Formats: sequence, C-alpha cells, structure tokens
Amino acid sequence: MKKTFYIVMVFALTVQMAFASQNRKVLVIGIDGCRSDALQQANTPVLDGLIASGLFTYDAWHCGITVSGPSWSTIMTGTWWNKHGVTSNTYTGSNFNSYPYFPTRAKELKPNLQCVQVVEWAPMSDNVYNDGWNKKLKTPDGDGASTAAVAATEIVDPNLDCMFVYFDAVDLTGHSSGFSPTNPSYIQAIENVDSKIGIVLNALYSRTNYATEDWLILITTDHGGTGTGHGGNSLQERQIWWIANGAGVTHQQITAADPGTYNPLIIGIFNQSGVDTALLKQSPVQSDIAVTALHHLIYDTGVKPEEQAAWKLDGKSWLSTFSGTGINDVSGENAVTVFPNPTTGMVSLWFENKNWNTVNVGVYDLLGRNVRTFENLAAANKVNIDLSGLSCGTYVAKIQIGTLTLTRKIDLQY
Ligand SMILES: [Zn+2]
Repeated sequence: MKKTFYIVMVFALTVQMAFASQNRKVLVIGIDGCRSDALQQANTPVLDGLIASGLFTYDAWHCGITVSGPSWSTIMTGTWWNKHGVTSNTYTGSNFNSYPYFPTRAKELKPNLQCVQVVEWAPMSDNVYNDGWNKKLKTPDGDGASTAAVAATEIVDPNLDCMFVYFDAVDLTGHSSGFSPTNPSYIQAIENVDSKIGIVLNALYSRTNYATEDWLILITTDHGGTGTGHGGNSLQERQIWWIANGAGVTHQQITAADPGTYNPLIIGIFNQSGVDTALLKQSPVQSDIAVTALHHLIYDTGVKPEEQAAWKLDGKSWLSTFSGTGINDVSGENAVTVFPNPTTGMVSLWFENKNWNTVNVGVYDLLGRNVRTFENLAAANKVNIDLSGLSCGTYVAKIQIGTLTLTRKIDLQY
C-alpha cells in the first residue's frame, strides 16, 4: 500500500516537472527597417494591444552597424559585431560558433527545447549556423501573408518552446520609396505587418495549453533608415524600439538616453570610445533582446545569462527588476493565479504568499480600453471579479496592490 502510494507520488512529480520545464516560452517577432517615429505614426491596433499591457520603448538604441546582417546577429546573439563578426549582409567573417544564437545557449541547459524560425530574408536563413533552430522555414521575401500563415500553423504545436518570426516588407518599402513617417507607403507597410502579427498572435492565444503557459513576446526592429537607405549613424537609423509582453510583464514605457555607437563607418575598427558604458548598462539597447529571451527560457535553472562569463554576452536581461523597471518574476510574492481561465464570467484571483489588505483591479481589452474596474476589494488570499456581459475574447487584468501592479491575461468564453 505504502509502496503503491510512493510510485504514484513519483509519477505525479515527474509529470509536473516535465510540464514545468516547458512552461516558459518565447516568441520573438522582427520587423526589418521600421523607424521608431513611423511606428508611432502608424495605426497598429495589434502592437498597441501589446503595448497596453506591456513594457515598451520607442527609444532603444542600436550601437552597431545599421545593416540587417550585423543587426539581426546582435539581436539574436546578444553581442556586438566585434564578437559575432558579421559586418555586412554576406555574413562573411561570422563567428557563430563562439557567439551562437540564443536558442543554442538555452539548449546548453535545456537540450530538449523545441525552437522554430520563420523568416523571409534568405541570408538569415542560409548564412547563419549554430542558431539552435530545430526547424528553419523560409517564406518569400516581403510576403507577410505567407509568413503569418506558416508561423500560425507552427505556433500551435503544443511542444513548441521558442519561435522567431521575421517580416521584411517595411524595409523593402523604405528602400523603394523612403524610410519616413511622412511616406504613406511606408506607413501602410507597417500597418500591413501589424495585421499579419495579429494572425500569429491569435494562433498563439489558441494554443491548447496557453492559459497555463508563460509566454514572453518580444517585438523589435533591426534599424531605421533615412532617404532610401541605412547603414550610417544618424538617429533616424540608430533609434529603434521594442515591446515586451507576457504574464509577468508590467505596463511601462522606458525612455532612455543614447549611449552612442560602436559603428565607426570604417568596417574593421570597433569604436570603443564611441559608447558611454554607464548609459549602455541602463538604456534599452539592441543586444538586450537575446539576453532577455534567453533568461526567460532558462529562468527555472537559476542561471543568469549575464553572469555566464564563458558566454561573453554584451546585452542585459530585462527580466526581474532592473533599475526599478523590467519584467517581473511571477513567483514568490508576485504570484497570482487566475482561476478558472478561460472563464464564463466569475474569476478568482489567488494570491499565493501574502494576505493583502486591499486590491484594485482594472480590466482592459486588447486595444487598451478599460472595460471594468473593481476597487477596494478586501482580500484574504483571494478576490473575485465578475466579467459577465463582456464579449468573448482576451482581456488584461491589471491588479494593483499598494505600489505593485501585476498583469494577468483572462480569456472569456461563453
Ligand atoms: Zn534594408
């Protein structure tokens, strides 16, 4: 009797651990050549929905060579061009064996991670190695509809842990008619890609186990542009943006000063003196994306990417509290469980480790509109909120406890 009980216990524990190890997942979406000021000008309801409950910046900084090959190599490896070695779109001189893509690093700790890339741009598909993708899918350049369709098909795989999806149409439009917020074609291209990202996200939200998974979504661009080109050091080329969204992400805008650039415009010389290293540690910069994605994937191993000396990463993770902002841990005192989820209306919010005195909850739709407010809920370790009467869909609950704000997604289904 005792023995049977023990076997059942071990089985239950093993199942739980296997599940927990795949719980944290990452989706990185890249929009090539999308200027920060043009993104703000464009009508992008999908990205706005992520911003409404996400951490975002319209002034992140590119500190390297503002060309796609070197830029995506920095985004995916977390190192600048003197390390990954890519200085042009031919990828000549690449050093991905020493500085691999972040899925390769994640697999050093979690070999079973399933990682898929869907990209339109051939050089990134053909010339990159040691990138950790189990599957590399190539769609026609500039064909966002195909890319979204392929990504939507792949992303519902229950075993998937990490995906990168890349759209090229904005950059192609910039080269043909101008990288500018006053160019209607360029704005239109951004709006088109926004709708394609919506297709990918709808597929993500339809995953069988989505409610119990912890997805970190990171969206960024590789560079801006000026006139019909890029590659230089102007603010129009170097000012980039990113959006982070997920269960543990607190809504906040990061504004940050420009740390300068390692791009000397003479390829081969790494311009150390061009960068303010103190600012580099505080400001959101291009090398942070890979490190943040990697940190999320390996979080439960306790390994902090920046502390792995052998990895020689240049970027920093925005996970946990960095300078009072960032992506919060969702365990410990920040643990809030939403149950049931999906719901038909009534939802309980369970606070794992603390008995809070009062809790305020604002409920928002994916366009960031406040649809319900619950104030001064008296909490033991649980509060109930009622979403009955709202239309079916995904909502974001912002749970305010003193100075702490936690966000959780709630799916309403009738
Ligand atoms: Zn370009």
